[in-house]
Amino acid sequence: MTLTEGIDYDIVVIGAGFAGMYAVHAFRSRGYRVHAYEAGSDVGGTWYWNRYPGARCDVESRSYSYSFDPELLQDWTWSGRYPSQPEILDYARHVADRYDLRRDITFDTRVRSAWFDDRTTTWTITADGGDQVRARYCVTAVGCLSATQVPRLPGLERFRGEVHHTGNWPHEGVGLAGRRVAVIGTGSSGIQAIPEIAKQAAHLTVFQRTPNFTLPARNRPMTPLEQEEVKAGYTESRARARRSPAGVDQPYPTISAKDVSEAERLRVFESKWAEGGTRFMASFRDIGTDLEANAFASEFVRAKIAEVVDDPAVAERLSPRDYPIGAKRICLDTDYLATFNRPNVELVDLRTDPIAAVTESGVRAGDRDIPLDVIVMATGYDAMTGALLRMDIRGRDGLPLGARWHDGPQTYLGLATAGFPNLFLITGPGSPSVLAMVIMAIEQHVDWIADCLDHLRDRGLDRIEATEQAEQDWGRHVNDVAATRLYRHANSWYVGANIPGKPRVILPYTGGFGTYSKRCDEVTRAGYAGFRLGPGDGPAEPGAQIGRPRHVGRQG
Ligand code: NAP
Repeated sequence: MTLTEGIDYDIVVIGAGFAGMYAVHAFRSRGYRVHAYEAGSDVGGTWYWNRYPGARCDVESRSYSYSFDPELLQDWTWSGRYPSQPEILDYARHVADRYDLRRDITFDTRVRSAWFDDRTTTWTITADGGDQVRARYCVTAVGCLSATQVPRLPGLERFRGEVHHTGNWPHEGVGLAGRRVAVIGTGSSGIQAIPEIAKQAAHLTVFQRTPNFTLPARNRPMTPLEQEEVKAGYTESRARARRSPAGVDQPYPTISAKDVSEAERLRVFESKWAEGGTRFMASFRDIGTDLEANAFASEFVRAKIAEVVDDPAVAERLSPRDYPIGAKRICLDTDYLATFNRPNVELVDLRTDPIAAVTESGVRAGDRDIPLDVIVMATGYDAMTGALLRMDIRGRDGLPLGARWHDGPQTYLGLATAGFPNLFLITGPGSPSVLAMVIMAIEQHVDWIADCLDHLRDRGLDRIEATEQAEQDWGRHVNDVAATRLYRHANSWYVGANIPGKPRVILPYTGGFGTYSKRCDEVTRAGYAGFRLGPGDGPAEPGAQIGRPRHVGRQG
């Protein structure tokens, strides 16, 4: 059954990464006419665009996959502890093939605008080429880290070499062998790319503004026995993950770092360090909430930096000192620190030697000209709101989303925003999103939206909007919870601090995935408390179907 006649689709989904893919599958399975538009030429989102050397997930492969279909879990085998970008992209393609998703996705099509028409209760979605389509509901699946951020360095346009952002890496690869390469930025992307680029380039200059805490990934192949064990345990493991704070089935400690002896603390830190991965952050329960507990972990990691890096001055420059570990997104690496022991790698500290200009042949930093052939921008993203606000989204009375969110995003549960009826945001700001295993966060949102649409359909309703009151209450809760965490102590994309002029507010919900899902379920059980439900004004005139707009490339 479909909702209405006279519109092109019941639901338009914007984006076909992991969120859009599952949205297409879930909504279609429930009988809705759904169509997705995707800027890339295939599925995969983040994993379609991020093809830089060393790109790998920081969630273990045993946790990083869809769980909506037990058979899908069984028929995909991961090769290593942490999945690489090519392997994850293969997985996304496998899912698209298995569920025949591509027939409901138009690729090479960037959505430029989505406008709500109050009279007809429809969304008009316009692609970059100008083609339009109308739908009852609009669901954004644009990713939290997809709007690339390239700093406005003076003279950048003059540079005669190549400039590439890690999040928009050429599909044919970049010739790095024997060339003079710079990487600007030392977040997760830079920290993964730097060791790989250093192996190929004649010389690598790393421009670092803020040193980052990074932990050894200790990636390794999975044995066939491990692969079997993982598959045998999927059902229970994912059920535990669904109730957990991070959407990952792992031990969540109950002991404070302050309640054990120094020797015991070091023993635990050493064992987590040796184990590798982000579990180090779960050495004790209060690393993310208590500055004193956090300082123990921060100091331990700084000592490791000094141990691995040969030159004490370089080690000091690589040591984060002005924010707590985990307040910026923790990074995972393979040989990042040791890379600075290579003779062909130099670290430039932008705090003491800022970039004065990019010239035709390189970068002028401090009092030096550094000749370069390739500049790699590992400079991050306008996270969580950028991809939404770079489109022209307008709600009731033509209200632009950018105006509504002028002082920072306002959402109810990160799923909806007042003034924008029938618009759902998958992993929107104010939801756990990037602080949870994101595929699980996506599934939870899509399932919640699908249940909500069924609820409306069963009652002959076709309009839903978050109330301003519910949104304000949720916003207050998001801020109250964040005040008990340490994220506010760092200038990171979690709080919008990486984008000049962006309002400084906590973007993800920090209260934990399991707690958040329960809250969503309560809202459902209470008949969608905090939302205004109603009938729309009936069927719309048929709109123009989106054809094959020209490929306009990636917004960035
Ligand atoms: P990021 O964490 O925001 O790091 C950007 C880096 O660029 C920072 O070092 C930043 O310095 C620097 N930078 C930004 N603007 C600059 C400027 N004007 N001049 C000099 N330096 C500048 O971005 P990212 O590394 O792409 O990672 C973003 C997020 O994507 C991660 O936190 C993670 O959630 C996700 N990610 C995950 C993986 C993985 O799964 N392993 C891999 C890549 C990305 P400041 O710190 O001083 O701002």
